Amino acid sequence: MTAFPEEPTNGSGPSSSTIRSSVDDAPFGLVELDRSGRLVHANTTAVSLLGIELLTAESDLYLADLLSDPADNLLLDDSLRIARLGSDVTRTFSIDASGRRRYISLRCWPATSNEDERIAAMIEPASPDDQTAEIAALIERSATGMAKVVSSSAGPNLVAVNEHWTTITGQDTDEALGLGWLDRIDPIAVDDFIAALADSLATGSGLKGKLRLLHSTREATRQWISISTSPLEGNGAALVFFDDVTEEHTAAQWAAEVTDLLDMASDFVCIASPDLSTIRWANDGMRHCGVIDDTQTLTLDEITSGVDADFLRSELQRSGAWSGELSLITSDSRLIPVQARLVVHEGPEGAAEAISLVATDLTQIAAAQQQVAATEVRLDALVAHANDLVALVSRAGIVDYASPAVERQLGYSNGDLAGTDILELVHPDDLPAAYELLASVVSGPGANDEAELRVVDSSGTYRTLEIVAHNQLDNPAVAGVVVNARDISERIAATKELADRTFLDPLTGLPNRDLLIDRLHESLRRARERRLLVGLLFLDLDRFNVVNESLGHKAGDELLAEVANRIEAAVRPGDIVARLGGDEFAVIVGDMLRRGDAKHAARRIGKALTHPIEVSGDSAVITTSIGIAVSDGNDEPENMLRDADTALHRAKEKGRDIAIVFDDNLRDQAVRRHNVENMLRRALEREALVVHYQPVLDVATGQLSGSEALVRLNDEDGNLIMPGAFIDVAEDSGLIATLGHQVLVASIRQTAAWNRGQVPGQQPLSIAVNVSARQLTDPNYPDEIRAEIFEAGLAPHLLSIELTESALIDGNPTTERALQELKDFGCRIGLDDFGTGFSSLAYLKRFPISFLKIDRSFVSGLGEDEDDSAIVRATIALAHGLNLSVVAEGVETTEQLEHLADLDCDRVQGYLFSKPVDANTFQNFLGLRWTG
Ligand code: C2E
Ligand code: CA
Ligand code: CA
Repeated sequence: MTAFPEEPTNGSGPSSSTIRSSVDDAPFGLVELDRSGRLVHANTTAVSLLGIELLTAESDLYLADLLSDPADNLLLDDSLRIARLGSDVTRTFSIDASGRRRYISLRCWPATSNEDERIAAMIEPASPDDQTAEIAALIERSATGMAKVVSSSAGPNLVAVNEHWTTITGQDTDEALGLGWLDRIDPIAVDDFIAALADSLATGSGLKGKLRLLHSTREATRQWISISTSPLEGNGAALVFFDDVTEEHTAAQWAAEVTDLLDMASDFVCIASPDLSTIRWANDGMRHCGVIDDTQTLTLDEITSGVDADFLRSELQRSGAWSGELSLITSDSRLIPVQARLVVHEGPEGAAEAISLVATDLTQIAAAQQQVAATEVRLDALVAHANDLVALVSRAGIVDYASPAVERQLGYSNGDLAGTDILELVHPDDLPAAYELLASVVSGPGANDEAELRVVDSSGTYRTLEIVAHNQLDNPAVAGVVVNARDISERIAATKELADRTFLDPLTGLPNRDLLIDRLHESLRRARERRLLVGLLFLDLDRFNVVNESLGHKAGDELLAEVANRIEAAVRPGDIVARLGGDEFAVIVGDMLRRGDAKHAARRIGKALTHPIEVSGDSAVITTSIGIAVSDGNDEPENMLRDADTALHRAKEKGRDIAIVFDDNLRDQAVRRHNVENMLRRALEREALVVHYQPVLDVATGQLSGSEALVRLNDEDGNLIMPGAFIDVAEDSGLIATLGHQVLVASIRQTAAWNRGQVPGQQPLSIAVNVSARQLTDPNYPDEIRAEIFEAGLAPHLLSIELTESALIDGNPTTERALQELKDFGCRIGLDDFGTGFSSLAYLKRFPISFLKIDRSFVSGLGEDEDDSAIVRATIALAHGLNLSVVAEGVETTEQLEHLADLDCDRVQGYLFSKPVDANTFQNFLGLRWTG
C-alpha cells in the first residue's frame, strides 16, 4: 500500500487524489494531510476515530490541533517530515476525540503524485497499557452481553463475560465459564451454532444471527438473542455479543401473523404513505381482485375512484379517519364498489406515519340492491296497471293507500280514498258481510277472507266487488290489511242471466240439479270452515202419478208449483230448494248446529203439505217421502246426493209420508248394494245366470200344467245365489233389464223345447216369468217378448207375466200400455203376492189381469189360522167373480192342498210337489200326474 488510487476530480479540491468510496468503508482510518499538516481527506473510520466532523472543501482542521498533549506536536512534525522524505513511519499519539482521550497509532507515508508534498496516513486505535482498565470498565458496564470465547478441542470455551451477559442469560459467571454457557442455548439450535462458531473461530470471520435462549429461571419463556462475534487477533478467539431482542422478535412475528390474517381476509386492506402517494403494503385480497399489480407502484389515487383525493386528504388531516363508499379500480379498469374506511396511524411523536384502508366488497350487495330496486319498480308497475284494485287498509278499516286501478274501477282519484273509512262505501245491505270480513281478517296475523260486496262508485252506482283481504298488519313492510278487489258486476249480471236460463227449473223457478250441486259445494265449504253441519233433503211425492193421471197434466204442473211454494215457505230464508225433475225436490239446509235440524226441516215440510192443495178446482192431498243426508262439510256433493237418495229409497220402501235419515245402517246397506251390484254385473257378463223351474199343477186333474221361472246366479266361488240377495239391487241399478231379458229368453226357449218333446195330445206346458215394475216402464218391453215368443215358437197364451201390485201403484202410463199390449198379444198377466200389498180392487178392474197368485203367507195358515183361511177363501171367490183364475203358491202340506181343492183353487205350486229345480231335473216331471 503506497498511495490512494487515482480518480479524476472536478478540480475544486486542492488535491487531485481522492479517496474512493471503497476506501471510505475501510476498517481502518485513512487521512490525507497537506504540507502544513491540514486534514484534506478522512475516511469514515478516521472521522470516527478522530472524533471529527466529515471534512468538506472548506474544512480547516489540522491534525496537530487534535493532539491532547502539545508535546506530541514535535513528534507529529517529525513523523510528517520523515514521510515527506519518502519513508513510512508509525507513532502513537493521544488525541482528544469528542472530549475523550483516545490513543491512535499513526502510520505515515508520502502520497503518490506528490508535487504538493502530501502525506497519507493510516490511523488505528492504539492500546497503551494505561488504557486497558478504562476499556475493561466500559466493557463491564456495556448494555450488550459480551464474552470472550476461545476455541478448544471440547468446544467454544468461554473465558470471560461481562455483567450484562449474566443478566441476559440468567447464568452466574461460574456457570457460564467453560462450556456451561452453551446449556442455555436452545437445544434445537445449539449444535448448528457450535459448528458455525467453530468455523468462525477457525477462519477469523464474524458470525451474526438469532438464537433462542432458555432462561434459567423462566423455562417457558422464549428469549430471543441477537448474536454476533468479532474475531480477536490471533486465531481461535473472538468476542461474542448477546443482545436481547425478544421484544422486537415477538413484534416481528406478530406482524407476520397479522399480515397472514390480513391476507386471508375477505376485505381489501392496504397501507399507504401519509400523503397517500405510495401503497406500502396490500393484502392478497387486493391482489386477487386485480386492484394491485405487483409489477408497478401505485398511488392510492390511482386505485380509487368516486371520492376526491384532495377532499380525502383534508378529511384525514382534520379527523384522522374517513369512511364511505368508493370504488376500487382494477388493472383492467373494472370498478369494484366498496365500503371503505381510512385511518391515519401516528407514530410515537404524533406524526402521521401511515394510512390504512379497509374496504368491504359491495358488489353482491349492490347486485342485490339493484334487484330489489328492479322488483319494486316491477311491482309498482304491476299494481299501477293491474285491473285488480289493491288497497291497504288499517285495522279500523281506514284506507291508507289505493292503487291507480281505483280510478278505473270506481272513478275515485288516488288521493280521494286515502283516509276514508272503507265501510262508508259499502252498500247498507252488505254491511254485515263487510263487518264480518273485516273482523275475520283482523282476528290474527296472516288471516284472510273473501267476500262479494257492493261498493258505491264516484257516480253513486253500486258495483259488485269480489274482495280478498289479507292480514299483513304484523308485517312491518306492509303494516296493514291488503285488500284485493275486482269488479265482478258484469260477470254477475252475465252469470245471473245464464243461471236464469240454465240453472233454473222453468216450471217452478227453483234451482235445478246442477245449481243444487253448485250450492251444495258452497254450503259444504262453509260448514267445513265454520264447523257447522249441512243437511240435504231428497223429496219424492207419494203417488203423484195418481194425481197427475186423475186430474190431468196441467193440474199436475200446478200442483208441483204449489208444492214448490210450500216447501220454500217451510224452510229458512238461507236454505235452498231445488227441483230435481218430475216430482222430486231437494232442500239444502245450511249452517246447522245439530244433526236433528235436518229432520226438523223435513217435519216442517211434511206439515206444510198436509193442507189439501187446490188445483183446477179440485183439491188434492199430497204427501212426500224424504231421504236425509247430513254432512260436517268433509264430503263431496255427489256422496251426499247418493246418501240422501239411499235414504229416500228406504223411506219409499217403508211406506209413505216418512222421512229417513241416512245413517250407518243405511251406509252398510249401501255398501252391500255396491258389492252386490259389482257381483251382478260380472255375473251378467259371464252369463252366469241359472234359471230354475218350479212345477205348477192343475188342482182338478193333478196334472203338471207348467212352471214358474225363478232366477239364481252362480258366483265366482261356484255358490248358487238366491234372488232375494240381488233382485232389489238389480232393480235399483237398472241391471234388471238385462237380467230379466236373459231369464225370459232362457225360460221361453226351454218351455218351447219341452213342449216339442211332449207326447201328442198332452196339455202343453205354460211358463210364468217374474217381471219387475221397472222392466214394464221400458216401452220396448212388449216388443222384446213378442220377438222372443215368435223366435222360440211358443204360443203366446202359454207365457204368463207375474208382477206385484207395487208395479201398478205409480200408475205409470207406459206400464199400463205395456200390459195392455201384452194382453192383446195373448199373454197372461198375473198379480203376484196377492194380499200383501195395496190390494186395491180398482187395479183388478183397471189393468188387464188374468190371474191372482195367493201369497205363501196366507197359504201357510190354511186350516190353522182362521183369518188366513178367510182371506184365501175370499180371494178365490173374488177372483172367480171377476173371471180371473187363482194360483196358490207355497203349498207345503196335503192339508193345504185339500183346503185349496175344497175352495176351488185352480192351480198350485210349492214344496209339497217340488222345490224349484234346474231344467234337467224338471225334465223328469214331464207327463207326470200328482196322485198325493
Ligand atoms: P216369488 O215370485 O213369490 O217366487 C216364489 C218364491 O217362493 C221362490 O223363491 C220360491 O222358491 C219360493 N217357494 C216356492 N214354493 C215354496 C214353498 O212351498 N215353501 C217356501 N218356503 N218357499 C217356496 P225364490 O226362488 O227365492 O224367489 C224369490 C223371489 O225373487 C220371487 O218371489 C220373485 O219375486 C223374485 N224373482 C225370482 N226370479 C225372478 C226373475 O227372474 N225376475 C224377477 N223380476 N224376480 C224374480
Ligand atoms: Ca212369482
Ligand atoms: Ca209370490
